[in-house]
Amino acid sequence: MVDIAVIGAGLAGLVCARQLQQAGYRVVVVEKSRGLGGRLATRRLQNSCADHGVRYLENQGELSQQLIKILSDRHILNPWLATVHQVQNSRLRPMPVSPRYTASAGITAVAKFLAADLEVWRGRRVVAIAPTANRWELQLEPAADKPIPNLRSRALVITIPAPQAVALIEPLASAVSTSFLEKLRSVEFEPCLSAIATYSTVYQQEPAIEAVTFPQNSELTWLSVESSKRPSDRQSVVVAQSSPEFAQRYLEIADLRPAGQHLLAQAAQLGLPWLDMPESLQVHRWRYAFASRPLPDRYLKTLNPLPLVCSGDWCGGRQIEDALQSGAAAAIAINQHLNDRPLSSVNFSC
Ligand SMILES: Cc1cc2nc3c(=O)[nH]c(=O)nc-3n(C[C@H](O)[C@H](O)[C@H](O)COP(=O)(O)OP(=O)(O)OC[C@H]3O[C@@H](n4cnc5c(N)ncnc54)[C@H](O)[C@@H]3O)c2cc1C
Repeated sequence: MVDIAVIGAGLAGLVCARQLQQAGYRVVVVEKSRGLGGRLATRRLQNSCADHGVRYLENQGELSQQLIKILSDRHILNPWLATVHQVQNSRLRPMPVSPRYTASAGITAVAKFLAADLEVWRGRRVVAIAPTANRWELQLEPAADKPIPNLRSRALVITIPAPQAVALIEPLASAVSTSFLEKLRSVEFEPCLSAIATYSTVYQQEPAIEAVTFPQNSELTWLSVESSKRPSDRQSVVVAQSSPEFAQRYLEIADLRPAGQHLLAQAAQLGLPWLDMPESLQVHRWRYAFASRPLPDRYLKTLNPLPLVCSGDWCGGRQIEDALQSGAAAAIAINQHLNDRPLSSVNFSC
């Protein structure tokens, strides 16, 4: 039994939980994956790692700027001095970019920092929520190695992509207002495939290709030589991310390797033939990658049947700053309906 349960240990959930815990509430974050960070994700590889979700951090507004400053001061983030190329008429041209930051330990270092003092139940998917005796009861997916009972809380914050939140909240339709559910259902997401390829050696070419953005009609949106984020790497590691239209074709296909191979073959045509000959290839499907139809508001709240706030990047946008802002706003909204304790503004150094 806790004051507040937060579903999801992405940026929105972690910021929300930190704010509420700092105000003195007992908070538990429940996360379905073993790792932290959600779409801010790092895949561990044999001798390296790859950021296959969020590509880097950049100043998108007040909270991302503050986070970058504190994590840079603590040497968790470093400037990524990669030359970014743009594909124009099938040719690569360097483009000017704003400062970008990455972590040599992988971008999930950001989430680990935010979660440091939080109680996070990892590897526990919430499969159902129900109001029982004036408390939310969260039903967790059974796991043989984890005898944790179901969780009860006075209030609930759901920080998962809206279509996944709909699946949890729809069974309560008779208790939740129609407009709340309609707003939640109106949010749309687009998918993305991330191909993660490793190579037996470090490939070098002139000019150095470290990151590439692709035009709108391409099957690719982004390619990064991840090893350029980690100078000590002794092999090239590449992440290639697909367009939503390309990912849509593979939404229900189990074997994603041909899709990954196709993305690498496309990228190889840019005068980088080695890309087509990976030593290993993994493909990750992001079913809910970017909000294509977000809500205008920073959170969605209902008090019936019990205090519930939905939050995430899809509340107000589709990027990291939106997730951070939404998590902070969700904390304020929940606090107002519990004890209305003094809640400090977000300070990542605390
Ligand atoms: C490929 C890709 C590249 C991107 N690149 C960038 C970029 O360069 N810059 C940028 O600003 N943004 C980028 N984004 C968007 C960015 O990742 C998001 O805006 C941000 O990370 C969203 O954070 P969030 O907390 O709202 O959601 P999420 O990160 O999705 O967090 C939700 C969490 O809830 C968990 N969860 C879901 N269902 C359950 C359940 N039933 N029970 C328990 N836990 C559950 C998930 O595992 C996840 O950890 C990218 C996204 C993708 C997919």
